[in-house]
Amino acid sequence: MMDHIKNFINGKFTDPVSGKYLDVYEPATGEVYCRTPASGKNDVEEAYVAAQSAFPSWSQMPVDERADILDAIANGIEADFDTLAAAESRDTGKPVSLARSVDLPRAISNFHTFADMVRKFNGQKFESKEFGSNTINYEPLGVVGCISPWNLPLYLFSWKIAPALATGNCVIGKPSELTPFTAQELGRISKSAGLPDGVLNIIHGSGPEAGSAITTHPGIKAISFTGGTKTGAIISRAVAPHFKKLSLELGGKNPNIIFSDCDFERMLETTLRSSFSNQGEICLCGSRILVEEKIYEEFRDKFIARTNQLIVGDPMSKESDLGALISEAHLEKVKNYIQLAKDEGGSILAGGEIFLVNSRCKNGWFISPTIIEGLGPECRTNQEEIFGPVVTLIPFSSEEESVEIANATEYGLSASIWTDDLTKAERIANKIESGVVWINCWMVRDLRTPFGGMKNSGLGREGGEEAFRFFTEAKTVCIKAED
Ligand code: NAP
Repeated sequence: MMDHIKNFINGKFTDPVSGKYLDVYEPATGEVYCRTPASGKNDVEEAYVAAQSAFPSWSQMPVDERADILDAIANGIEADFDTLAAAESRDTGKPVSLARSVDLPRAISNFHTFADMVRKFNGQKFESKEFGSNTINYEPLGVVGCISPWNLPLYLFSWKIAPALATGNCVIGKPSELTPFTAQELGRISKSAGLPDGVLNIIHGSGPEAGSAITTHPGIKAISFTGGTKTGAIISRAVAPHFKKLSLELGGKNPNIIFSDCDFERMLETTLRSSFSNQGEICLCGSRILVEEKIYEEFRDKFIARTNQLIVGDPMSKESDLGALISEAHLEKVKNYIQLAKDEGGSILAGGEIFLVNSRCKNGWFISPTIIEGLGPECRTNQEEIFGPVVTLIPFSSEEESVEIANATEYGLSASIWTDDLTKAERIANKIESGVVWINCWMVRDLRTPFGGMKNSGLGREGGEEAFRFFTEAKTVCIKAED
């Protein structure tokens, strides 16, 4: 019999009130492998009641005890590392090697990092003769909603849930309906780690049903959302009348700016990863590669050669560099963008085709890594987020031009700059309109630093104390003796 994922409410695994389930596909095979609850308002209400009643004791628990439970959750993930990595690969289509090297280690670090940080997160105090003693306390909000996408399921789910719990909130989380498995496992692990019932509740289902029941619930005080820019706009409208706190981590169209004076081999190696890791389904992938004219041809030829060596294959195989795209609809979207690039006058230098993988993966959703050249910065291919293994090459002749092209989209999530001249790199970094700029590296993350996008890539910041401030209200208590 096919497995059924369950909601996790008040420490128990439950069926959705509607009794309805949605199919969950394995992208590598194109086949349904389990079913996930089609939850809605009634399930969210049950979760809310549980979370609300767990809030007083969880929020008043000494910080060290809360932090110890977060550490225990991290240890629980580590204990189930192999099973969780295989599950993440099956749900998303990503190579299991990537789930092992990126997704799982990061989920573990999310819980440990916020546990460490919250132990040291104290209110501030200002004292002066003129204004007296002012203490700022950061108080938890109550019940908060955490909604995450399918591309880095446990990695992004835990990135929101860990700081929310650390600061004393109770959580209603919703993973993507496409990738529910590791979220269910997080419920089980949290319970074994000693998290009291009702503190973390996980509701499965579609965005328009389960997701919007969370965003519009009048008692839920904050929404932390990661996903597409269009969904971000829908959620902004939904939460506005409720005056909820809102954090939005949205899409990107990130520039990767390559100067002739860079360490070429290191740049090439990293650019392969920043272009095609996770089949290009990472919001931080550098999908627009800007190359200084002097080395454009050398870069193009070597990049094509290296791209053609990448292995697209069964995500369960250790050999595979790229796995399958998340869904048939997403594969169709990526194919349409490749057609659009051709229609706009672009040349396909590598890939561009559906990729057939034999045996168990013959019906999977694979596409070969694709490189496009010959398109101006303003065309749709260079403006819209494709979110697949597709990059464009754009030559530039001067530092000013590189900045102009880099900033010429509605997005502003991240950028990479490759040069040995660090003065130049920092000068450019100051002009780039994005929340993160990497110099001679990519996707290096100290979790204590703020993370988020400018322009249509987001609102607010996650990470470090920014996350703690988002999940708390600052209260100033002022004592002034009479003069
Ligand atoms: P999405 O379609 O916007 O969905 C994200 C989450 O929101 C899913 O759980 C989805 O549920 C839910 N959702 C959809 N409609 C909703 C609604 N009306 N109300 C409440 N929730 C709703 O995004 P995606 O396709 O999963 O993810 C890809 C996008 O995420 C890309 O644009 C990527 O750049 C972005 N992303 C950004 C970051 C960042 O840090 N900035 C990181 C990763 C990904 P269902 O899927 O179940 O419908």
